[in-house]
Amino acid sequence: MHAFSKRHIGPSQDEKKAMLAEIGVDSIDELMELTVPKDIRLKNELNIDTALTEKQYLDHIGDLAVKNKVFKSYIGLGYSETNVPPVIQRNILENPGWYTAYTPYQAEIAQGRLEALLNFQTMIMDLTGLEIANASLLDESTAAAEAMIMFFNARARKDVKAGKNKFFVSEFTYPQTIDVIKGRAKHLGIELVFGDPTNYDLTDDTIFGALVQYPDVYGRVKDLRGFVDKATKQNVKVAVAADIMSLVLLEAPGKMGVDVVCGSTQRFGVPMGYGGPHAAYFATRESYKRHIPGRIIGVSKDADGNVAYRMALQTREQHIKRDRATSNICTAQALLAVMAGMYAVYHGPEGLKYIAQNIHNQTATIHQSIEKAGYKVLHDDYFDTLWIETPEGLTCQQLKTVAEEHHINLRYINENQFSISVGERTNDAEVEGLVSVLGLAAKETKIDVEFISAKVNQDLARKNPILTHEVFNSYHSETKMMRYMKWLENKDLSLVHSMIALGSCTMKLNAAAQLMPITWPEFSNLHPFAPVNQATGYHEMIKGLEKDLCEITGFHAMSMQPNSGAQGEYAGLMAIKAYHESNGDSQRNICLIPSSAHGTNPASAVMAGFKVVVTKCDEAGNIDIEDLRKNAEKHSDKLGAIMVTYPSTHGVFEAGIKEITQIIHDHGGQVYMDGANMNAQVGLTNPGNIGADVCHLNLHKTFAIPHGGGGPGMGPIGVAKHLAPFIPGSPLVEGVGGEKAIHAISGAPYGSALILLISYAYIKMLGTKGLKHSTEIAIVNANYIKARLSKHYPILYSGENNTVGHEMILDCREFKRTAGIEVADIAKRLIDYGFHSPTVSFPVAGTLMIEPTESEDTGELDRFCEAMINIRKEIQYIEDGHADQDSNLLKNAPHTAECMINQDWKYDYSPKEAAYPLEYLVRNKFWAPVRRIDDAFGDRNLMCSCPAISSYDTEEEEAFA
Ligand SMILES: *Cc1c(COP(=O)(O)O)cnc(C)c1O
Repeated sequence: MHAFSKRHIGPSQDEKKAMLAEIGVDSIDELMELTVPKDIRLKNELNIDTALTEKQYLDHIGDLAVKNKVFKSYIGLGYSETNVPPVIQRNILENPGWYTAYTPYQAEIAQGRLEALLNFQTMIMDLTGLEIANASLLDESTAAAEAMIMFFNARARKDVKAGKNKFFVSEFTYPQTIDVIKGRAKHLGIELVFGDPTNYDLTDDTIFGALVQYPDVYGRVKDLRGFVDKATKQNVKVAVAADIMSLVLLEAPGKMGVDVVCGSTQRFGVPMGYGGPHAAYFATRESYKRHIPGRIIGVSKDADGNVAYRMALQTREQHIKRDRATSNICTAQALLAVMAGMYAVYHGPEGLKYIAQNIHNQTATIHQSIEKAGYKVLHDDYFDTLWIETPEGLTCQQLKTVAEEHHINLRYINENQFSISVGERTNDAEVEGLVSVLGLAAKETKIDVEFISAKVNQDLARKNPILTHEVFNSYHSETKMMRYMKWLENKDLSLVHSMIALGSCTMKLNAAAQLMPITWPEFSNLHPFAPVNQATGYHEMIKGLEKDLCEITGFHAMSMQPNSGAQGEYAGLMAIKAYHESNGDSQRNICLIPSSAHGTNPASAVMAGFKVVVTKCDEAGNIDIEDLRKNAEKHSDKLGAIMVTYPSTHGVFEAGIKEITQIIHDHGGQVYMDGANMNAQVGLTNPGNIGADVCHLNLHKTFAIPHGGGGPGMGPIGVAKHLAPFIPGSPLVEGVGGEKAIHAISGAPYGSALILLISYAYIKMLGTKGLKHSTEIAIVNANYIKARLSKHYPILYSGENNTVGHEMILDCREFKRTAGIEVADIAKRLIDYGFHSPTVSFPVAGTLMIEPTESEDTGELDRFCEAMINIRKEIQYIEDGHADQDSNLLKNAPHTAECMINQDWKYDYSPKEAAYPLEYLVRNKFWAPVRRIDDAFGDRNLMCSCPAISSYDTEEEEAFA
C-alpha cells in the first residue's frame, strides 16, 4: 500500500482500535457522532481529486514546474536574485531540526534559534545604525506600514488632541508598499500625503511621520539628511525603507537621525519564491521599545547564572494586551530571519562587502556600456538600480519583446523609461548578455563591455566597519559553518525529537515530499512581478489549491495574500468593512469578540478600525448566547462583525454555533470565523456550513507548512459570494482580487507563494478520504489523551457528550494552592521528560492545552501521558509534604547535564530522579542546554544584540577601501 495517508496518520489499525476502547466507544463514527453536532455535519464527502502517492505527486508537480519560465530578473522593486549558500540550504532550509521547531516560547529548549535570531537582530542594528531591532516582520510593505502605525500610536497626547494625523509618503516608494499603507491608514483616521522628499515642505503642523524609500523606487541614492533635518525641526518622525544590501556600502540611516529603518532581508540568501516567504526587518530607537511591533529576542540569564536568550518584553504582545497590543504579529518569518542572519555569519563583513561591491560594479559597468548605444541613465548616484530612458525611436514595448526573446525581465515604467536592478547572482557573462540585448534592441550591433570598479557616492558611503561582532567573524569555512549551525540546532527541541502537543497550533507532520519542490529553481527563483505568462505552473498550482480550499471551507473564493493567520484576520475584517461600506453601512464598526478569543483577534479588529466589544463565555467554556444576544441587540445598528473560533478555543464543538451566526446575521453583522482550529473540521463540517461569511486558514497549522521556529506561515482567507468582490488586489499584477478589491494586504500578490506548494501537496496526497480521516484521528488522539489523563488531572471543558474536539485543556490551577506549583513549572518539568510543553495559559490562565494531531502514534501519545502522569505524582509528593514547595523536581526544572555533575548536588532528590524519571529516557534523552531562564531580569536589562568585539568598535575607524 503506497497511500500517503498511511505515512501521515500516526496510529496503525490496531492502535486505533485500542484507543477507541480506552475512550469507550466502538467506532470512529460513534466518536464523531458524539463530538460533532449533527446539524452542522457535511451531508456529502468532499469533492477532492483522488490521492496521489508521493511518486505520483512529485511527477505531477515536476510537470507544473517546467511550465514556469525562469527568466533572468532585473526587475528589482525589493526582490533580487540571490545565492542561497548551499551549506545554509542543506543544514537549515532543508533540515527538519530547524524548520519543524515552534515559536520559542519554551526558551530553555530554543536557545539555538534564539541565538540565530539574535544574530539577525544584531546584523540589522549594525547595518541600520539603530539601537533595537525585532526578530522579523512579514514583508517590507507591512513593515513600512507598521512604522506608520507605531509613530501614530506613540504620538504625544497633545498631538493627538491637536489632530496631528497626517503621514507623508515619498512618491518614490515601491508601489506595493504604498498600496499596503493606503489600506492600513484607511480606517484609523490617518491621512496620507504624497510628495517628493527633496522639495516637500513639511511645515504642515498636522504631519506626525514620514516614510522614504532608500534607494528610491528608481534606484536613486539621495542624501536623506536634508529631509531628516526638515522633519526633526517639525517633530516629524521618519521611517526609511532601505535595501539591506545597499547598507553594506552606504551610511546607516540611523546615523542620520531617522527613527525607523525597515525593509526586506530577502537578498541575504533567501530565494524570491514568487513573492515569499522572506523576513522583513524593523529597527528603531530604544525609546520605542514598548511600541515596537513583532518579537524581540533578548539576553538574560538562567538559574545557574549562565547567559541565556528568550523573547523579551512580551507584555507588548497581543496575547496580553489584546486590543491595545502594539501589533497583531504572531507568526512572523523566523526561519527566513535565521537564514538571512546565517548568510551574514557565513560571508562576514568582507564577504558581504565583496558581494555588494560586485553588484555595484556590475551596475556601473552596465551604465557605462549602454550609454554607448544611446540609452540615457537618468541619475548619478545609485547602488544597484538604473533608471533609464530608451534611445530615440525605441519604445519599451519593443525593448520588452527583444528582452523576453532572450529570457530577460526588466522593469518597464512607461513608454520609454525602464529600470535595471542587479542581484548577487548576476555574473559577468550575463552583464555582457544584457548589454548586447539592449544593444540589439537599439540596433547597435556591438558594444564593448569594459568592467569597471566604481564607488558609491563617498558623501553617502559608510565610513566605519560593519559587523564587527565575533559571530560574524568566526565561521567562514564550510566546516566551521556546518558545525556552528549543528551546534545551535542541537540545543533545540523540535518535531525530530518528540511530539509538540501545542493546543491551537497543530504541530503535525511536515512531510519531506511536500517540502522538496520548494527548493526547485522553477519555483524558488521566480520574481513576484514577472509577467504572469512566465508563471503558468504557479498559477495552475494556486488555482488548484484555491479550488480545494473552497471545497474544504464551503466558500466561494479565496485570497492567497495574507502571510499569517493574523494578517488573514485583518484581510477578512477589511473585506467585511468594504462590504458594509458598499451597502451604505459604514457606521457598522462594532466587532464582538468572545473573551476566550486568541489575542490576535482583538488586535486585528482594531487594525481594521473596529471597536471591540467583549462578549462572555459561560461556565462550560461556550459563548454565552444570552450575553451575545444582548450585545447584538444593544449594538444592532452598528454591529459590524463577530469573530468566533470553531471549534472554540476550548476545544469544543459548540452546539449553539448556528444560533450564534444567526443572531449576528439578524442584526446585520458578518461572521468572521477564526480558522486556526480547522484541523477539527476538514471533511466533517466547514465554516460555510456553520454560517460564517469569511474565515482564514492557518496553512502552517492545518495544512502542513512547518512552523519554522516562528514562521513562515500563510493565512489565506475564504469568503462567501457576497464578500468575493472585496478580496485584496495587487497594484502590480493583474487578475488578483475581486472587482471591488480592497488595497493589498501584502507586498506580493499571492503572499508567500512558494510555500503554498506544501499545502497543495498535502491535499493532493491525502485526497478526500485521507483528509477526512486525518481529522477523525486528530479527534481520536485528543480523546485518547483525555481518557488517559482525566484519571489524574481535571479536564476543563468537554462537549455535550463528554468528548473533546481535536484538543483539550488540563486544569492545573489547583496545584498552586496545594503544592505551590504553577503551570509554568509543569511546562519546564516536561523538558526533563523530553517533551515540549503544550500551550501554556491559553485560552485559560493556569491551564495546559493539548493538541496531539493525527500524525502521532499511540506509542508517542503514551510516552507523553506517562510523563504527565509521573509529573502528577511528583506534585502529589509535594502536596503530601514530602518535598519543599520552593525547591523540588518541578521548581528546579529543567535540569542540565552540567548541573548533574558540576556542582554540589544540593537537592533532596537524586540526579536520576531529576534526569531519568522514566524508563524510556534511558534510550532517548534530550538535555536542555540551560536551566530556568529569568524573564524579569532580561526585561529589566534589555539587550537585544550580540556583544561587539571591543577593539573593532570605534566609530572613527578608517573606511574599508
Ligand atoms: C495561531 C492562531 C492565530 C494566529 O495565527 P498566526 O498565523 O500566528 O498569525 C489566530 N487564532 C488562533 C485561534 C490561533 O491558534
